Amino acid sequence: MIGKFREKATPGLVPALESGISHDKPVIGGEKLKVINHLCVGCSYCLMACKDNALVVEGVCEVLESNCTNCLLCLMSCPTGALVYSR
Ligand code: SF4
Ligand code: SF4
Repeated sequence: MIGKFREKATPGLVPALESGISHDKPVIGGEKLKVINHLCVGCSYCLMACKDNALVVEGVCEVLESNCTNCLLCLMSCPTGALVYSR
């Protein structure tokens, strides 16, 4: 799975992951999901991937941090690299 993150994530720090029971969590702390607005085309693929109602796409994607479980499924679904996981 880490290989997929390295392919997709631009240009933020790609966390080392440890396999969890339901989610892969980053090993190091302080990172969070961010949107690079100028790369977002509003396709909503991320929204369809998120199982935690943590994204809103109205023109561009926004992250609802209080709902986000850091599973990063959305990041792997974004075709433009608009989602990054970094500090
Ligand atoms: S990291 Fe997971 S929970 Fe957070 S917005 Fe992406 S898909 Fe949803
Ligand atoms: S998948 Fe990527 S480009 Fe599409 S709405 Fe989500 S963040 Fe934007």
